[in-house]
Amino acid sequence: MIPIASPLIEEEERQAVLAVLNSGRLAQGPVVAQFERAVAAFCGAKHAIAVGNGTFALDLGLKAIGIQPGDEVITTPFTFVATTNAILMQGAIPVFVDIDEKTFNIDPKLIEQKITKKTKAIVPVDLYGQPHDYDEIQHIAKKHNLKVVEDSAQALGAFFNGKSAGLLGDVGAFSFYATKNLTTGEGGVILTNSDEIANLCRILRNQGQDEKVRYEYVMLGYNYRLTELQAALGVEQMKRLDSVSAARIANARLYDEGLKGISWLRTPVQAPNRTHVYHQYTILLDSEINREEFLLHLKKHEIGYGVYYPKPLYDYEYLLKFKSSCPVANSIAKRVVSLPIHPRLSSSDVKKVVEVIRSFK
Ligand SMILES: *Cc1c(COP(=O)(O)O)cnc(C)c1O
Repeated sequence: MIPIASPLIEEEERQAVLAVLNSGRLAQGPVVAQFERAVAAFCGAKHAIAVGNGTFALDLGLKAIGIQPGDEVITTPFTFVATTNAILMQGAIPVFVDIDEKTFNIDPKLIEQKITKKTKAIVPVDLYGQPHDYDEIQHIAKKHNLKVVEDSAQALGAFFNGKSAGLLGDVGAFSFYATKNLTTGEGGVILTNSDEIANLCRILRNQGQDEKVRYEYVMLGYNYRLTELQAALGVEQMKRLDSVSAARIANARLYDEGLKGISWLRTPVQAPNRTHVYHQYTILLDSEINREEFLLHLKKHEIGYGVYYPKPLYDYEYLLKFKSSCPVANSIAKRVVSLPIHPRLSSSDVKKVVEVIRSFK
């Protein structure tokens, strides 16, 4: 079986976690700070704030830019549910805008028609590890005085014109969930160049306490902290980021080459001016291909796969009231299939996946 995901945990990670266990300090402390410095340095960010998961990072990012109940937030329906849940956690209203049929990221051309007096922010997603259209989104945000909270959960290591994912808005969110490119089991990091947003996030993550004065509660806060054990994993994982991204990109090129010329599928489109770190390598089947049959074929040949995501978010019952017309998302959700792309994959694994796909028709 070739699995769809496989975390890269080695001796360095084991030793780092053991050292924390032996230190006696398990909750947020110096190792969390070290992890934050590593992420900030890699991304060229002024501030990185570690939290318990990527959803917390989005939640605090939205709170820190001042999203209030009743505010409208423009976002994509073709993403993991956490993007929209974080908006709903503010009592805000997700306004879904259709996606671009090539990148599957939010289509900037369709945003302005959805802006109203109540619109406060845009939450673009860097889907599958490819940054959203930064130039276009910034142009719209500036013109309409909107904030941008970037869901960069899948895009750690990617850049747009040399600017790191996570810094392509006012505040960005990374996830270190078990299947992400780097992992701490569960974990998240908020990225920002704003002192004010960073300070607010630090206070909100720790029960509303001013970081410098203990038991001085300045506002309603939360316990969104990361543990030292997770941060120790994070510090070691960050050292692997360049090689992990390079391995994923190399596997993507092997797939691109191997799948070339198959008329009934499309390989991922790399948009200009950005790097793609292939959190997922997602092919698009032609509409006449029966996806269920294709998935059964992969399964029969022991190829792991994923369907990210099986339907647009507004098709889930609790989100039906936010439904909007997104024909591209509707069509694409029925046709995507993600293939194994992780760094443990060998070139002969990729070859096997390609052969199995070629034998489908
Ligand atoms: C993983 C992910 C999240 C949430 O991160 P968690 O760490 O699982 O809370 C949010 N948005 C997207 C697009 C993700 O892929």
